[in-house]
Amino acid sequence: MPKRVGVLALQGDFREHIETLNEIEGVEARLAKTQESIEACDALVIPGGESTTIGKLMKRFGLDEPVREMAEAGKPIFGTCAGMIVLAREIVGSEQWRLGLMDITVERNAFGRQVDSFEVDLPVKGIEEPVRAIFIRAPYVREAREECGVEVLATFEDRIVLCRQGNLLASAFHPELTDDRRLQRYFLEMIGN
Ligand code: GLN
Repeated sequence: MPKRVGVLALQGDFREHIETLNEIEGVEARLAKTQESIEACDALVIPGGESTTIGKLMKRFGLDEPVREMAEAGKPIFGTCAGMIVLAREIVGSEQWRLGLMDITVERNAFGRQVDSFEVDLPVKGIEEPVRAIFIRAPYVREAREECGVEVLATFEDRIVLCRQGNLLASAFHPELTDDRRLQRYFLEMIGN
């Protein structure tokens, strides 16, 4: 049975996620924008884009509950960039709507205006060679509550940019924009664990 991975398709670069996931053998990636399509998934990706818009639409279309239920059922959810912000419990200086599923505090647009976007080779815990990471108006995790089970998997310049809490994974960068599929594979291995 292929692994059915939904990509939340409300706003942002969900198409790139679908394409890169479908390159991986044994994966069937599909758009998720209804309750039914979310419930039919083994795992879900919340893509990069604009976190305020994604949050607003998620709430408006009543997709927040199905996503919460997925999380409670132990199905893996991967938030990338804006998706990381939507997963966070706290967002510095913002009251914007969020799922609040991960015990992390994020700061939006945290790398300054001058360096809107940049690429680095990022050492990641659990992956042998560094992962190529593209940051675009990226957030970072200011606080990861390790006492709640949040595990830091990567930092860049002392800032947390990749972390995991059980079945939830969050990256400040965009794994769907490189040729490197190792982080997606890491995520897929979380299915059924
Ligand atoms: N800056 C965006 C936000 O705060 C995130 C950017 C991205 O997803 N590339 O929602």
